[in-house]
Amino acid sequence: MRNIGLPVKAPKQKCDDRNCPFHGTLSVRQRILEGRVVSSKMNKTVVIQRDYSHYVPKYMRFERRRSKIPAHNPPCILAKAGDLVKIAECRSLSKTVSFVVVEKRSEAEG
Ligand SMILES: [Zn+2]
Repeated sequence: MRNIGLPVKAPKQKCDDRNCPFHGTLSVRQRILEGRVVSSKMNKTVVIQRDYSHYVPKYMRFERRRSKIPAHNPPCILAKAGDLVKIAECRSLSKTVSFVVVEKRSEAEG
């Protein structure tokens, strides 16, 4: 098991995915985001949705914004739709994927 240099809990399972930051050769960067998995239908890839507030000075209010980020889902973490996860930036793994799931914060409820 490699130390990936981030303050996250390492997964309990092992995997042989070379694009896994813990068991493969993928290195991660310091940028960490948190979001909820909205789709896990792709092979080893999940879609994370982030809800955040953006301040609009003219009206002195916040507007709600959301963004979707595709992220690699290593088999040892295996995040499913509804899970709250932490993702870390990595090199681009495909045309759209340049983040990897590094920690499962909570399971989907229900
Ligand atoms: Zn792994």
